[in-house]
Amino acid sequence: MDKVEVVIVGSGVAALQTAIETSKSKHVTIITKSKLRHSNSYLAQGGIAVAMSEQDNPSFHQKDTIQAGRYYNNEHAVKMLVEQAPYVISNLIDSGMRFDHNQDGSLTYGMEGAHSERRILHSHGDATGKFVTEHLLSKLDTSKIDIVEDTAVVELIIAEDHSCIGVKVMNQKGQVESIYAEHIVLATGGCGSLFQLTSNASTVAGDGLALALKAGARIRDMEFIQFHPTLLYCNGKTHGLVSEAVRGEGAILVTSHGKKIMEAVHPLKDLAPRHVVAQTIYSYMEQGEMVFLDISMIDHFKEHFPTVADICESNGINLDEGKIPVSPGNHFLMGGIETDELSRTSVKGLYAVGEVACTGVHGANRLASNSLLEGLVYGHALGHYLGAVPPRKLAKEARQTGVKHSLRMLPEIADIQNSLMQKAGIVRNGKDLASLKAWLETYRIDELLDVACEDLTLDQLSKINAVIVSWLIAESALMRKESRGGHYREDYPIENDAEWLHTSIVWDKNKVKSLKGNVYYESIKA
Ligand SMILES: Cc1cc2nc3c(=O)[nH]c(=O)nc-3n(C[C@H](O)[C@H](O)[C@H](O)COP(=O)(O)OP(=O)(O)OC[C@H]3O[C@@H](n4cnc5c(N)ncnc54)[C@H](O)[C@@H]3O)c2cc1C
Repeated sequence: MDKVEVVIVGSGVAALQTAIETSKSKHVTIITKSKLRHSNSYLAQGGIAVAMSEQDNPSFHQKDTIQAGRYYNNEHAVKMLVEQAPYVISNLIDSGMRFDHNQDGSLTYGMEGAHSERRILHSHGDATGKFVTEHLLSKLDTSKIDIVEDTAVVELIIAEDHSCIGVKVMNQKGQVESIYAEHIVLATGGCGSLFQLTSNASTVAGDGLALALKAGARIRDMEFIQFHPTLLYCNGKTHGLVSEAVRGEGAILVTSHGKKIMEAVHPLKDLAPRHVVAQTIYSYMEQGEMVFLDISMIDHFKEHFPTVADICESNGINLDEGKIPVSPGNHFLMGGIETDELSRTSVKGLYAVGEVACTGVHGANRLASNSLLEGLVYGHALGHYLGAVPPRKLAKEARQTGVKHSLRMLPEIADIQNSLMQKAGIVRNGKDLASLKAWLETYRIDELLDVACEDLTLDQLSKINAVIVSWLIAESALMRKESRGGHYREDYPIENDAEWLHTSIVWDKNKVKSLKGNVYYESIKA
């Protein structure tokens, strides 16, 4: 059987960092759905958090991360993130990555919401993701790494012993091919573009989550989604992100009458945690009020924030008026494929890294600028591990069990996006979530989990993935009867530590197939 050593799915920072480390001793194949640079990583504006300044300390970074995560974080995972961050970022700088500097040559540390210290590194102001991605791309050793673009992974190949032994890919002509591999890494990002209002790239649509669930892996914490408070909002649509760093530099959220909406809401006012800011803006919008970022106090805005300025100007916003119209929208998934500190999933041979993984670092809400960092730190650790593991003999491929789906009908992606935004968005309640879940179940989730990819188009497979992931979000959000971090239930508005702090909602294929609506609770702490 022809096989490659390591397949990495996706081309964001997590994939590239893993590939660079792994390729020091193994051959890697990167497979990505669109072009290499089409990722959330490329769009990231705010920066990368790291406790490297003299007055900072990883333990302060840890405290801020856990506070933002509403104490639901996996403390070991957070410790690994913040303690390895200075080493991994120093390595990146040593390899030639240029972060923004002060005139004396020292690194410039920016401030962001819910950080207690200035610790955010930027590159070219608000184009950090683009420049980090370009740097990583320039470090790929193409004699050890094959790159396959415009090709989606549509199924994971499973062996008789339930391990993962490869991927099935579909090219743009709809042709399916099997690639066997010793190690398969999912780095496919979150699921933002399943929502109508989002900051995410169009290719980031939850594929990895659905693929992993279908292959038998455990998925958890799907109710925890971060809504970014400030996406540029014109003509009822979002058009990219207005970075948190804009508020870090002093911008204030106001109504069209100039009322400062965060004044009496939180002691940190406009720098309050994201979910607090997003919910406040949303509550004004629900009453028909437009909300704006007043940027009039920021000198040289265009120089500080060239990416934001570009997005605004290309959408007809006159920055000289000092106001940017904003709306919240889906930004980041805290949950995902359950992984350990080496990014191993519950399926042998299958790994997940970056936003698609749930290491537990983010808890119930991500601290700003911790996710590029997560991809870099965990990608580094995974690559190091994969580079060192001995060759793996693949077990025999399981007999094809894929069923033909009757495909009576699948919903349009736009209908899923609207339904998720309205019923599983920033403010949720049991009634809406139950109706969303019931609607999704009419598409027979149990059948969709076993559908064979061969007879379907990429469009149909994307819809199937979207239905499955949406169901995971709806059911998990319905079951968590409290509000915590990114998950806000108006019918259960309080954090209920006694019942929920140590309780996680974890899914596997069998649990989902049972479709009884019985939640599977698992105590994650003693
Ligand atoms: C506008 C914006 C601004 C942000 N700003 C910041 C910031 O300042 N700081 C910060 O820390 N974080 C920020 N984030 C979050 C951060 O960018 C992401 O969490 C992070 O980049 C995720 O990296 P990743 O490598 O896991 O996945 P991504 O960068 O999302 O890449 C996923 C890749 O997988 C590919 N893919 C998906 N499905 C398939 C499939 N079936 N087959 C093959 N390939 C597939 C996609 O095409 C893509 O290449 C921002 C996000 C956005 C959207």
